[in-house]
Amino acid sequence: MISTAEALKRALELVAPLGAEDVPLTGAAGRVLARDVMAPRDQPPFAASAMDGYALAGPPPRPGDTFRLIGQSVAGKAFPGTLQPGEAVRILTGAPVPTGADRVVIQEHISRTDNMIKVRQPPDEKPYIRPRGDDFRTGDTLTAPRRLTPADIALLAAMNVAEVPVTRRPDVAVLSVGDELIMPGADPDPDRIIASNGFGLKALLEAAGADVRLLPVTADTARALRDGFGLARGADLIVTSGGASVGDRDLVAQVAAEIGMRRAFHGVTMRPGKPLMAGRLAASAMIGLPGNPVSAMVCGHIFVLPMVERMLGLPYRSRCRTAPLARALGANGPREHYMRGRIDGGELTAFARQDSALLSVLSRANALIVRPPDDPARQAGEVAAYIPV
Ligand code: AMP
Ligand code: MG
Repeated sequence: MISTAEALKRALELVAPLGAEDVPLTGAAGRVLARDVMAPRDQPPFAASAMDGYALAGPPPRPGDTFRLIGQSVAGKAFPGTLQPGEAVRILTGAPVPTGADRVVIQEHISRTDNMIKVRQPPDEKPYIRPRGDDFRTGDTLTAPRRLTPADIALLAAMNVAEVPVTRRPDVAVLSVGDELIMPGADPDPDRIIASNGFGLKALLEAAGADVRLLPVTADTARALRDGFGLARGADLIVTSGGASVGDRDLVAQVAAEIGMRRAFHGVTMRPGKPLMAGRLAASAMIGLPGNPVSAMVCGHIFVLPMVERMLGLPYRSRCRTAPLARALGANGPREHYMRGRIDGGELTAFARQDSALLSVLSRANALIVRPPDDPARQAGEVAAYIPV
């Protein structure tokens, strides 16, 4: 068995950033930018007024000064001429400042009669002119990799970039293994278990940007497993759940080896998640999760999510944070323990029940409290590591 850190390192080595594709702006939010994008224009593309008022030429005017109104500049339609001292152009916010103008005096400081304006009070120091390229200039870049936020999308649109190069979504095939499993919504007899892992993993990985295919539930036979792997062929990542330990019916490792999986590891000193395995299978990365529902989801967070992010081209980032414990914790055993708990008001509390079959407990959790191997008992107030979930 290897440590969680070593397993994560090996799991990440099994995948690499995928290629890029161009998508329209409306489909780019949340996708990962694949290459730096350069602005092909200045923004604003002209010196623009920051206020509604009057554009004037010459030195700062004084109260009582008058100017002859010779035209207007509105957004989308500039004043065509050149402004001379003694002249004024009516101007609205965002409109091009006329050639020759030195400032915009806000309309609150002006009185107007027909085609004359008069300055009523000392104008502000500020010229109220946004220089050309004030926001961004031709050649400025939005740098990759990054997950595109709504603000990034608005920026790309302002740059006049209509098609965005993003990393292709990883194709992830999920294979749920177990004779006892049936699909949600089926009519279960009492011996059956509803296959929940695939649904939780699909939700987790799709939120991260993967395309997830749920393959039909697979029986615990070598033939069914081979068929299942056949359906997964071509996926960037094959995720199995169940059948990963060493029981008579745990055939995933054996069948994967028979069809050519090059194993990177099998067995991790973590809890839950001990039977975890991973490797390369033809063109795919493969990770085999334990079937226990909490184990599958915890391994999804700790291993599969970072693998998906790496395929998307994002650098690895540790999600680990620290916070003080609200209550004491007993000593940990020899495996790294991901305890289901809550972070509330900046303090961590582990749930009393930590069985890896309890999805109701995981559903109430918003933190996995990470206990190193052989961590001694901890008092309330001591600082512990956790991963928000
Ligand atoms: P296994 O890893 O196959 O030994 O499964 C361990 C436990 O997890 C058993 O109680 C299974 O019934 C359960 N289990 C396995 N796969 C799933 C699944 N896809 N959804 C829900 N429970 C599962
Ligand atoms: Mg099983």
